[in-house]
Amino acid sequence: MPEIWQKLSAEETAMRLEVDTVKGLTDHEARNRLERLGPNTLERGPDVAMWQMFLNQFKDFMVLVLLAATAISGFLGEWSDAVTISIIVLLNAVLGVVHEYRAERSMEALRELASPEARVIRNGMERKIPAAELVPGDIVLLEAGDRVPADIRLTQTVDLAAVEAVLTGESTPVRKHTRPLEQAAGPADAANMVFMGTALTRGRGQGIVVATGMATEMGQIAGMIQEAEQESTPLQKRLAQLGRGLVFFCLAVCAMVVVVGVLRGEAVYQMFLTGVSLAVAAIPEGLPAIVTVALAIGVQRMIRKHAIIRRLPAVETLGCATFICSDKTGTLTQNEMTVRRVYLSGRELEVSGEGYDPKGKFTGDAAPGGPDFDKLMKLAALCNNATLYRDSISIGGLFRKNSPARESAWKIAGDPTEGALLVLAAKAGFWRERLEKKARRLAEIPFDSERKRMTVIYQEAGKIEALVKGAPDVVLKLCTHYLRNGRPVPLDARSRAAVLEANSAMADGALRVLGLAYRELPGKFDAERVEAGDVERDLVFVGLAGMIDPPRPSAISAVHTCRRAGIRVAMITGDHQLTAQAVAREMGIAGRDSRVITGEQLEQMSDEELAAVAENVHVYARVSPRHKLRIVRALKRQGHVVAMTGDGVNDAPAIKEADIGIAMGITGTDVTREASAMVLADDNFTSIVAAVEEGRGIYDNIRKFIRYLLSCNVGEVLVMFLAVLGGMPLPLLPIQILWMNLVTDGLPAMALGVDPIDRDIMRRPPRDPEESIFSNGLAWRIISSGAVIAVLTLAVFALSYSGGHDVDLARTMAFNTLVFLQLFYVFSCRSEYFTIWELGFQSNPHLLLAVLISAGLQMGVNYIPFLQPIFHTVPLSLHQWMMVIGVALLPTIAGTIQGQLGSRLRERVTYLKV
Ligand code: ATP
Repeated sequence: MPEIWQKLSAEETAMRLEVDTVKGLTDHEARNRLERLGPNTLERGPDVAMWQMFLNQFKDFMVLVLLAATAISGFLGEWSDAVTISIIVLLNAVLGVVHEYRAERSMEALRELASPEARVIRNGMERKIPAAELVPGDIVLLEAGDRVPADIRLTQTVDLAAVEAVLTGESTPVRKHTRPLEQAAGPADAANMVFMGTALTRGRGQGIVVATGMATEMGQIAGMIQEAEQESTPLQKRLAQLGRGLVFFCLAVCAMVVVVGVLRGEAVYQMFLTGVSLAVAAIPEGLPAIVTVALAIGVQRMIRKHAIIRRLPAVETLGCATFICSDKTGTLTQNEMTVRRVYLSGRELEVSGEGYDPKGKFTGDAAPGGPDFDKLMKLAALCNNATLYRDSISIGGLFRKNSPARESAWKIAGDPTEGALLVLAAKAGFWRERLEKKARRLAEIPFDSERKRMTVIYQEAGKIEALVKGAPDVVLKLCTHYLRNGRPVPLDARSRAAVLEANSAMADGALRVLGLAYRELPGKFDAERVEAGDVERDLVFVGLAGMIDPPRPSAISAVHTCRRAGIRVAMITGDHQLTAQAVAREMGIAGRDSRVITGEQLEQMSDEELAAVAENVHVYARVSPRHKLRIVRALKRQGHVVAMTGDGVNDAPAIKEADIGIAMGITGTDVTREASAMVLADDNFTSIVAAVEEGRGIYDNIRKFIRYLLSCNVGEVLVMFLAVLGGMPLPLLPIQILWMNLVTDGLPAMALGVDPIDRDIMRRPPRDPEESIFSNGLAWRIISSGAVIAVLTLAVFALSYSGGHDVDLARTMAFNTLVFLQLFYVFSCRSEYFTIWELGFQSNPHLLLAVLISAGLQMGVNYIPFLQPIFHTVPLSLHQWMMVIGVALLPTIAGTIQGQLGSRLRERVTYLKV
């Protein structure tokens, strides 16, 4: 371990690593080091190669038996059978590889999307880079919630603490500092360093990367840290179980076919091959792979809608969600704050202006200005970590290609709440950069959602002051005085009440309100040892700032969609009760009389009490992240499937506990993201609802192809079974069975997996997660459709055979009838609610193409001369084709008639309520 860094001072570390701590490395130097030392990643096990995937396809027992049987038929001189069967088996394996490869690729893409980033200073500028590109010498900025991207020697810390359990097993946070150590220590005691893979739980900091990739502490034990295994979803597990059951069932039926066939006098060898082929065709070995592909494709579609799935089971759970608990700021609202009202020394001022443009007027009871006004503005500007800057943008791009006009837009970097305060101060002529020419920041006690306040300590002309801002009720509790005409006067009950009233009035108008206060500190001050309790007391209250944060219009309609889909929405916010209520009303989440629970009330309630009411609460106000966990548990106790959003480190436990933990992609921290099942790339509530819709759609699609595959397989097995029972000749030869399996199960089933989502999917109630995949009559549909397919095929076979024709012709008729029955039936499987005419053929062009290709291949087997003897087909007359197609269309026509009647009924019953 490179313990040496711990003993060096920050300056010596920088010198050894040849880096300027202010400007960081140059891009050129960083590139050189990256080339020399390699990327900052831990080595992973090798990927599964294509050929291995291909070989894996032959691990299936029945396929091996089939190949053995083929080999035997080869020895017995049936060359064409042996070769063709082998080719079909190979094609099947190729199809399997295609499925698996696609699934693997999309999972890989997901992993890449979720790859971590680091904030560094390079070329004198702060920027985000992929953590893999970090090199020793890089200056990294760190913050609570970050996962540490490399081994770092700290050079600055503000109340920084890290949980290093991954390295040391110790789960309490370790406080960090920057002083050199006397003696080098192991990671457990190296308090002036942070290590790759550990999590920062508090504060902020900066440091120099001293080791990357396999050279880090984590790299040394990388063997122990495995990439999280891809979990299977509950459905995948259940299907695997079902698959095993089906195998035995199919084997039993196939064995019966063989035995009865042999007893009836068929050749043993012929019957054996028939039985094995039938088993291969009937066992839905492709099912798990198609399910994975359907899930993976669904996941890709979700990405396009800004929802990144981190855990595959979430895809299914999303479709079952009954309760979405969402943060307000930034998820339901735009997180673009503008201060509209200011309250100070008993009077109110209105503030005009748009966005972050620092232009606006103050109007109200009294003229702006005076010592109280100036103090408030100074506080707003200095107790602040955001930056206001002007960004050049080009406008008129499309129409003025040659000379796009350049215009500058005001933007903020950092927390929008703080940005709004910077803009407010700037409107009054107070700019932080100018103020900081005279005032120097000594220390900071950072904001966090639990404390709901932030404090900075500044020194100006020998005077040291603590500047505090935060939730008004919280700040006011710490105040003993208030500012009046530039002088602190004792805060009596009346003036306290007046402030709270002003706060309520602003909050009722949906404004987020912040209180601002200060305190002069005694002359001697040790910036290394700041304690919140010492500083944040006996404050002088200065005023309030109320800011708007408009709802996202799309979120309002998404809330409406949830309501129709039987999903409840709860808003969870750290904001004031009245602000929360006003926003919830505006968004249709709650009515005027809806119950609101505040963090304080929540503290008083037992878990049982909370569980009893949680279902009917749609607004939680002034809550802290730790309350979220209780809310999730209460709802789960009531049988709800809960989605919960979060961004800060403290949200991680609730996110982990929720059925669907959702982290914010923009404002979220690494730790929250890692705890989550899904990340919202745009932090937008609308994307959650879009993901739920996709989740429901994916499940629906899986049901579609299960219905299709199993109905067809039931049909195929029944045809053979009934034929041998009834003493008929075999209606299909082994090679025909295998071919049919390839053309009907391959492309059409895959195309069903990408079927567009039913348009009424968000009008149905959520699915019960315990519900069987065969619920709502699916099992019956599969068996009845399979029986219809079998009976019609047998009828055609019997008719053609008894008409005095030869058996090859009758088989060709049966073979084609069965194939086309299935190819038409696939369209009926597209919806359990709509007929194929209601859906339209163009809505899934993949399926149309898949069926056309399969039909083309089938024609090839019928008409290509050299294939005819192999597949024992004979050319059919037009009249015979009409019979084949006519019979194959019968179930579709019957289904349409039945569906038309049904859908008219359904429209009248279901949608009347909405
Ligand atoms: P959510 O994102 O869950 O809707 P929120 O963003 O409204 O919650 P927090 O960020 O936890 O809630 O803020 C809680 C309260 O703390 C706010 O209502 C505000 O009064 C205060 N607050 C927010 N940001 C800051 C800040 N940067 N400095 C000081 N106080 C703040």
